[in-house]
Amino acid sequence: MPISELAICLRRSDYSETSLVVRMMTREHGQASLMAKGVKRPKSRFGGSIDLLSVGQAVYSLPRENSVSTMGLLMSWDQTEAYPCLRTDLLRHAVALTAAELLARLTEELDPHPASFDAMIRLLRELQGGEPPVRRLAEFGRALLTDIGLTPDFQTCAHCGQPTGPGEFPAARGLLFAGPRSGVLCPRCQPGPGESTVAISRNLQQFFIENTQITGRLALEFVRWLVYYVQHQIGRELNSAATLERAIAAALIAHARSAQPTDSHDNDK
Ligand SMILES: [Zn+2]
Repeated sequence: MPISELAICLRRSDYSETSLVVRMMTREHGQASLMAKGVKRPKSRFGGSIDLLSVGQAVYSLPRENSVSTMGLLMSWDQTEAYPCLRTDLLRHAVALTAAELLARLTEELDPHPASFDAMIRLLRELQGGEPPVRRLAEFGRALLTDIGLTPDFQTCAHCGQPTGPGEFPAARGLLFAGPRSGVLCPRCQPGPGESTVAISRNLQQFFIENTQITGRLALEFVRWLVYYVQHQIGRELNSAATLERAIAAALIAHARSAQPTDSHDNDK
């Protein structure tokens, strides 16, 4: 029986002169690899190509249980939302690509995560609505990690097991986050020789644990930590990370220029 539901195109690759393979994130079935036969023909029944990061109603079938193929078949695609800002704004484009890659790498095929799906749709709409992209990416990252159960333990030292809370140590002192251990080190403990760590502020913990509002500065810190953390979780670099960092750097320079000669109290990204 064909399935009809809302989907986001997370990846697309050429299969032949006329066909594409698309990785769709669907709300009810999670990720699905689907063959879109004949989509590149001028008069295809899809009525045009399928863009990366587009959202629409997909009608598709999954491979039969005893089939050797792991690929389903996309029968029709009706794009329901457009985000033209992703084509004109480098930072918004990089943010959306990063979010799509996080979703693709942190969830499994046919393992539904409706909350993460909804967070991705929300992010795309917010980007199109002109909201600050890095802040919205940070909120997306928090929602995604929470939904898939990858929230790190910030409150116990990953080395000595002691509480790391501000009651134990001065709140002004940040903590070291150790990617290989997926946790923080308290100020008493040192990383092992050559161990990869990043410094994080107490505000980052609070943003995660207490669902606090985010500022531009904290969003930047969170997003950089998120990329670092996920790369350690999946054991490889994110393809989108370098583009995101370049887009952030360009936006910060543009912001600093526009903020002169008055001092900027907080950047708007
Ligand atoms: Zn410790």
